[in-house]
Amino acid sequence: MQNMLLTELGQALVNGNLTDAELQARTDTQSVLQILPDANVVKVGGQSFIDRGRAAVFPLIEEIVENLGRHKMIIGTGAGTRARHAYSVGIDLGMPTGVLSVLGTFVSMQNARMLHYLLAKHGIPFIEPAQFPQLPLYLEERGAVIFFGMPPYTFWQKNPEVGRIPPHRTDTGCYLISEVFATKSMIFVKDEDGLYTADPKKEKNARFIPRITVAELLAMDLEDIVVERAVLDLMQNAESSRSIRVINGLVKGNLTRALEGEDVGTLITMD
Ligand code: ADP
Ligand code: MG
Repeated sequence: MQNMLLTELGQALVNGNLTDAELQARTDTQSVLQILPDANVVKVGGQSFIDRGRAAVFPLIEEIVENLGRHKMIIGTGAGTRARHAYSVGIDLGMPTGVLSVLGTFVSMQNARMLHYLLAKHGIPFIEPAQFPQLPLYLEERGAVIFFGMPPYTFWQKNPEVGRIPPHRTDTGCYLISEVFATKSMIFVKDEDGLYTADPKKEKNARFIPRITVAELLAMDLEDIVVERAVLDLMQNAESSRSIRVINGLVKGNLTRALEGEDVGTLITMD
């Protein structure tokens, strides 16, 4: 069927087979829109950071405030120890992954709510997924927003290959925001200087890795890494967010340095 209102791609998509590789390739010929190229996604760790309470959180809040007006920040939260506890009870009671995902979502929301109240006097809003259309306005007006890092898949979370823990958690949810809005940076704030050859809490001789490609990291086949593995999987098909930085937020000044684009922590990159 010929329809003169349709572009050539339009004709092909309307009449073609959407699983055809050649047709799929033709959908990637226009460069993707950079929606918020001067914003930064900052993920504040749950277990690694917020669970440490005021000793960790208050200085970071101060540093976020110092950067208001200088750097636009989309601040996402991790879930942490309470989520792990909820997962253990849920698993004991026979809950499927999709329900565990609901539980984790509410814990990352608890953390987002608390950071939100710490920043409330600076006019920083907490936004839920349904409020993301207002994100550009809030960033322009207030310079930052807080959201919960868990991707809002809830029941639609896919099962992991092994076990039942939702494979797409808060690192992944924050990363996907940086990808879709093509933000300037994706910064993970945790409690270690970045990526090491092993978990530095368990392996005293672990070596620090300042910079690495996703391919190199996957080839190392490390037992444990500093971000969710799903982030590395998603980076492989990234249109925009092709590098992530992991910093130690317990060191004052590191967030500012990362926002300034300085070489701090570990840069994990596709290119
Ligand atoms: P979040 O609080 O953001 O969920 P996690 O606690 O899940 O963060 O992940 C960060 C933790 O990962 C660090 O505190 C560190 O102990 C651990 N970790 C595991 N493997 C590594 C590694 N190879 N390099 C650095 N940290 C690692
Ligand atoms: Mg984690």
